[in-house]
Amino acid sequence: MSRLTANDICLLVESITGKAPRKNERGYLARCPAHDDKAESLSIREGDKGVLLNCFQGCRFKDICHALGVEPQRLFKDYGDTSKTPEYRPSKAERERFEEDTLIVYFYNERNNYGMEQDEEEHKSKLAAEERLRAYVQRETKGKDKARHRAVHSKRRHHKTTPKGRERSRR
Ligand SMILES: [Zn+2]
Repeated sequence: MSRLTANDICLLVESITGKAPRKNERGYLARCPAHDDKAESLSIREGDKGVLLNCFQGCRFKDICHALGVEPQRLFKDYGDTSKTPEYRPSKAERERFEEDTLIVYFYNERNNYGMEQDEEEHKSKLAAEERLRAYVQRETKGKDKARHRAVHSKRRHHKTTPKGRERSRR
């Protein structure tokens, strides 16, 4: 179920009262479905927070919604709105990059552990990969997807090797 706009309400009103709402400068005028309306007593328009329904004969918002067969909250703009807490969804390319970066760091550390010489380029690419991994994890943290966040962290821990080799090669 999604939010209803002034247009949706107009269609509902028309299906119930058999008369299409008439557009005016601010919105629409329609037959009120909540009372036996011979005139057009219902004003329908989009407000800042949602659809405004106003019956000049005094029908309550709740009763008009009931007559239309809709839940009142569906007329508000924030109905079902999850944009306030956006979820971070990495793209396929990003996930692949993540796997690749994890491997770059992993193999760099492995080579270090075996005391293998590494050139400047390998060192640089490992630092860049680490940087991207940090950014990736930060974006994940900001998002709501806590489960995936945990998976990323356990994966990083798993791939992280002891810095022994690196320390040895520096001395
Ligand atoms: Zn009314």
